[in-house]
Amino acid sequence: MTKGTWTDDRLVVLKAMAEAGKTAQEIADRLGGGISRNAVLGKMDRLGINNKQSGRSVIAKKKTAPAPKLVELVDDEQPSPDARSLLEMRPGRCYFGIGDPHKPTFHFCGRKTPDKTENYCPGHAAKAYQKTRKFHVPDDPDAPPPVTDDDRDEIIHRENA
Ligand SMILES: [Zn+2]
Repeated sequence: MTKGTWTDDRLVVLKAMAEAGKTAQEIADRLGGGISRNAVLGKMDRLGINNKQSGRSVIAKKKTAPAPKLVELVDDEQPSPDARSLLEMRPGRCYFGIGDPHKPTFHFCGRKTPDKTENYCPGHAAKAYQKTRKFHVPDDPDAPPPVTDDDRDEIIHRENA
């Protein structure tokens, strides 16, 4: 063996010992022949061997997955700072009605919508979507479709006729 060179034999020993968790110093001692600890570390670096004992190990950076972007559901208990009455409503404002429509406290959310074709702010769009989904998926598949307000009017009209 030539002094200080990396022969195939030495590389095999290096890899085996590194994988066994030996320190660079131990590996260097074992290899001998003028191979220094630093030479071992340098070689392991180049070979991409992660030596846990060397103190120079590259601790894999914990990849914290970015939190999924959740649409924050709007808390309707908190009055919207943008609350609008119907007269104040403009395109691009959230039309989600809050409160009892028969009471003067009723108001529209009024938050800005993502664009003017949207009727709801993202939070209320999510809420509306949830409601719609529930509405269309009755627990009992044989249940009659839910009665809408329009149906109800029709029924009342029919009953009155
Ligand atoms: Zn809203």
